[in-house]
Amino acid sequence: SSYSRVAAVTGANKGVGLACVRQLALQYPQSSLNNGPFLIYLAARNKERGEKAVQDILQDPQLKEAKALQKDGGLSEVKYLPLDIDSKDSIKSFAATLKKEHPDGIDILLNNAGIAMDGFDANVVKKTLHCNYYGTMEAVKQMLPQIKDGGRIVNVASSVGLLDSKYAGPIRERFLNAKKTEEITDLMEEFTSAVEKNQYEGTWPGAAYKVSKAGVIGMTKTLAMDNAKSGSRVLINSCCPGYVNTDMTKGRGAKTPDEGAQTPVLLALGEIGGSNANFWYNGKITAW
Ligand code: NDP
Repeated sequence: SSYSRVAAVTGANKGVGLACVRQLALQYPQSSLNNGPFLIYLAARNKERGEKAVQDILQDPQLKEAKALQKDGGLSEVKYLPLDIDSKDSIKSFAATLKKEHPDGIDILLNNAGIAMDGFDANVVKKTLHCNYYGTMEAVKQMLPQIKDGGRIVNVASSVGLLDSKYAGPIRERFLNAKKTEEITDLMEEFTSAVEKNQYEGTWPGAAYKVSKAGVIGMTKTLAMDNAKSGSRVLINSCCPGYVNTDMTKGRGAKTPDEGAQTPVLLALGEIGGSNANFWYNGKITAW
């Protein structure tokens, strides 16, 4: 391809994901990654919303002012790509398109797509885990072979995925001691069946989103450790954007989306001292 660097951001039509696209374009020229033209794929599950977001980015006054985009003489180009992480087929065609366009691989995959549903029952748990845990994991697994040597994968988890006293001690220990991703998936399955049987109280938090994000932190850690052991130099970390004012938080977040994008974009472009398998919060490695 005619680009020196390529990134993709999932769930990027609005909120933190859209801000990550903006911040990648703004910060790339000053980053140590900069060695010429930069292509950022804005991935979204809905074509209209995705294409509209690309149009908005191309008109963005701040990007114009900074001369960040190629059309204004800058380095970055932004293009839409379809991706629904709830669908294995959609992830497959996303990966296939990237492979075709960039046979040597891409530099950055920023997995931001996620949902937070109201209420708590077995159906909410299944849908939430399907998207946030299984969907993110599938995107990582399918794309990992296509991330260039020294490239980065960033998974947006949440600080609510930290292991607090809402988990029974032995469950917390199993999360913390997991060496294989399968052990994290086992925990996700146990949580699901405990909720189905209405036997989760005293063992699990009564919150689907919270457990899904603990899963993302654990999946990231185990997959990243395994990947490093195989000799790969791709750096894989998870993070929390902070409490951000988006549709997900119904306007309640304290940070702007651009502020929320700072830690994810640091992990994508910035100096992270070779960090792998870690969870980052407020720009720092944070204990799970
Ligand atoms: P929004 O609800 O504003 O945006 C979520 C984005 O994810 C949308 O673009 C949405 O697309 C997309 N998405 C949802 N499901 C899928 C799917 N199956 N396939 C592809 N894309 C999908 O939320 P935020 O911007 O606030 O959240 C972004 C990430 O940050 C999430 O992972 C969230 O859990 C995490 N986070 C957010 C916090 C906050 O305070 N806002 C705090 C901690 C973590 P569509 O428009 O089509 O629905």
